[in-house]
Amino acid sequence: MNKLPDKYREFSAWYDAVIEEADIIDKRYPLKGMIVWKPFGFRALKLTMQILEKLLDEYGHEEAYFPMLVPEEIFAREKDFLEGFSGETFVVERTISKKLNRKLLLRPTSETVMYYMFSIWITSYRDLPIKLYQTVNVFRYETEQTKPIIRVREIVRFNEAHTVHRTLEEANRQIEEAIEIYSKFFDSLLIPYIILKTPKWDTFAGAEYNYDFFTVMPDRKAIELGSVINLGQKFARAFEIKFQDRDGKWKYVYQTCYGVSERVIGVLLSIHGDSRGIIWPPIVAPIQIVIVPIPSETMYDSILNKARKIEEKLRASGFRVKLDDRPDMTPGSKYFWWEFRGVPLRIEIGEKEVKEGKVTIARRDLMRRIVVNDDELEEAIKKLFKEISDELYRRAREWLDSNIITATSIEDAAKKYNDVGGGIVRAPWCGEDQCGLAIEEKLGLEGLGYNPKEKIEGSCVVCGKEAKYYFYVGKKY
Ligand code: ZN
Repeated sequence: MNKLPDKYREFSAWYDAVIEEADIIDKRYPLKGMIVWKPFGFRALKLTMQILEKLLDEYGHEEAYFPMLVPEEIFAREKDFLEGFSGETFVVERTISKKLNRKLLLRPTSETVMYYMFSIWITSYRDLPIKLYQTVNVFRYETEQTKPIIRVREIVRFNEAHTVHRTLEEANRQIEEAIEIYSKFFDSLLIPYIILKTPKWDTFAGAEYNYDFFTVMPDRKAIELGSVINLGQKFARAFEIKFQDRDGKWKYVYQTCYGVSERVIGVLLSIHGDSRGIIWPPIVAPIQIVIVPIPSETMYDSILNKARKIEEKLRASGFRVKLDDRPDMTPGSKYFWWEFRGVPLRIEIGEKEVKEGKVTIARRDLMRRIVVNDDELEEAIKKLFKEISDELYRRAREWLDSNIITATSIEDAAKKYNDVGGGIVRAPWCGEDQCGLAIEEKLGLEGLGYNPKEKIEGSCVVCGKEAKYYFYVGKKY
């Protein structure tokens, strides 16, 4: 392939080139917003979702499965939810030859599917709490321009967790737990983030309040990574989810839900990649180590032999390793091939390495080589994985920090936003809806939210009254 476009100046072109040419996805399927995942990319997606599923399991959630289709009358039970999703929910009305006797909807998310069942399952306080999740595909008719992996019409892997509680306090604690789980998840993917409470006017349809995790992409636009939502009793009332409490009284339950999708892969590729292509964090790299034997006229058999032994040994130790012994390709083009595909470590074995009982290891992140003894290889790899992860996180953190701009007035915000060329601006805010909306409007940016724990001093940039929080705004995916 040709030289990659610049990741920062031509982000979209860089992104499209990388995800297609590195065999992550194929977007040639003739249906807008629905893409094919190729094995290399899909493996990373699977590894990524497994990290989250493991965390949810550790925190006491159980995996289940609910149907993809929901009858319209059930979907329509919660008014705000219906309104919020009406423009993007697909409807199934017929088979090829027959009209169905009722409309069926394709889940854009599974609240209504699950909560119908919760109302059957739950009758007593003994049935609570419930903490479930599923990782499934969901469908949303995106009207804006679609972008592979990031803005799609079929979300291929949506991990949605849904919990049900006896009291509001329990539900609030669950929100804290969910934030902790997602923090650990994004930390392990080396994606830095900020956690913001959504302003009232943008809250998830059918929710009391929600928190979103945000980071900043290479084009300096903010992107939502995941949402944690406190549903209160809105769905409980709509779906009649009631239980008999210890005191004998019938009460409505409290609910929460939180979700993350394959979008994190799109973000991770964007944030960690560089001018040479992808750089996978070792934890989710579909291939963590590639072994390249260097041809030699006299010693190639023993070189290949050593390469095979190392491959076997590393695989047995649980590493995702590949020996690239394609005979018709030079080592140089193999290096280039795997660098572009983001494999974190490359092992080179040639005459010298065989004679001296050593291997050469090249790091993808710093493009640097080290030489280690054969018997120290596994230890060296573990150490290098840690160093690569630290380095990727450091770079990503630096990027996010440099794109969060603190402003003291509307003019200051506008100027700094222009100077930086994007990013997330935070401005002192009194907490009133009309002032928050005015900040959005005056700057022509979208409100992302505020951090209730971040107490600040200063005065609201709109009304001049005492500020309670920073209000965060930016352009959003
Ligand atoms: Zn104000």
